[in-house]
Amino acid sequence: MNYKKIILKPKKEESLLRFHPWIFSGAVQRKDDNLTEGEVVAVYTNSNEFIAVGHYQIGSIEVRILSFEEEEIDSRFWQKRLSAALELRKSIGLISPTNNSYRLIHGEGDSLPGLIVDVYAGTAVIQSHSVGMHESRMAICDAMREVMGDSLQNIYYKSETTLPFKADLGAENGYLFGGTNVEEVAEENGLKFYPDWVKGQKTGFFVDQRDNRSLLEKYATGRSVLNMFCYTGGFSFYALRGDAKLVHSVDSSSKAIMLTDKNVELNFPGDKRHEAFAEDAFKYLANINKGDYDLIILDPPAFAKHRGAIRNALQGYKRLNAVAFDKVAKGGIVFTFSCSQVISKDAFRLAVFSAAAQSGRSVRILHQLTQPADHPINIYHPEGEYLKGLVLYVE
Ligand code: SAH
Repeated sequence: MNYKKIILKPKKEESLLRFHPWIFSGAVQRKDDNLTEGEVVAVYTNSNEFIAVGHYQIGSIEVRILSFEEEEIDSRFWQKRLSAALELRKSIGLISPTNNSYRLIHGEGDSLPGLIVDVYAGTAVIQSHSVGMHESRMAICDAMREVMGDSLQNIYYKSETTLPFKADLGAENGYLFGGTNVEEVAEENGLKFYPDWVKGQKTGFFVDQRDNRSLLEKYATGRSVLNMFCYTGGFSFYALRGDAKLVHSVDSSSKAIMLTDKNVELNFPGDKRHEAFAEDAFKYLANINKGDYDLIILDPPAFAKHRGAIRNALQGYKRLNAVAFDKVAKGGIVFTFSCSQVISKDAFRLAVFSAAAQSGRSVRILHQLTQPADHPINIYHPEGEYLKGLVLYVE
């Protein structure tokens, strides 16, 4: 191991001894000269004891830990991490011919801070959130091919908008492997969809709602369902399979509405129970009558992307949920979510509580939802918990 060194201030190794995977710039006493952003560094305590190796970056998080062992970050390392992640997902029965879309790497949750990998049938989409992962993309691509073998035909790299702007890396989205004539149909719990990693949001599909969609399917039977913020229609096709009376999907993006229609058609061709509308959520909700729907899903984009936006975001969640409580039928169900990482479970629940109080209706919590097992939370890095949801019964 011959990496440049970072020496911590006295006592600043404490969080690392508890396996927290970040080193903040304030903890660093000194570092070797000429460090390049994204390179692997070795971290030592003030008394020169080895602590960890990680990716160096300029910013408030200066090192993202790759390993607490004294080891080389080479092809063997990447293969080890990727196969451990794959093994976990296999061992809990998450991957099957009818469920071939899953998150293979969930950053810190898979001991690879800054890296996201989603798999859709034969295609993997890699997303880097750190300079180090960007610089390692070819090594990661090679290790993926090694670990996944023939099951993988394409690897797409999508990091143009997720890397730190200041690093000015000029990252371009594109295939690192394969990429000819790809129109992939992937499956989630036996339902088909077209993931659109090239033009779609994030890596092309929101795999994190898989378990929550399954629960929704059970509740949809005989109900009139409004899937608000539908994106590619995930909740809608589960509701249709669950024998909903009707399903209306709404998203402000007309591209999302096109994708929703395409995915519904793929599973339930010509099904007249479904209609999709390109409209703003608040406008749509304002124009419906009380009782039009007896199941409403609210899965908005992250209202707060950073701490400074928390106050306004909570107001936004309150306003949105209040309208839903106002409009949902008597004995209706609301599935409500927040994917803002900076908003805690308690704060979100309080916003929903305020909305319920404002509507004056009797509201009970039936389920408390979170992210699925392929988005594991490293117990030493609670910041990895981001998705929260409530299933509510509204009288
Ligand atoms: N529920 C989806 C994911 C939702 S992502 C799923 O299961 O896949 C959030 C979606 O909200 C995006 O598709 C975005 O286009 C849409 N959106 C953002 N602002 C909106 C608004 N004001 N009204 C309606 N949709 C909006």
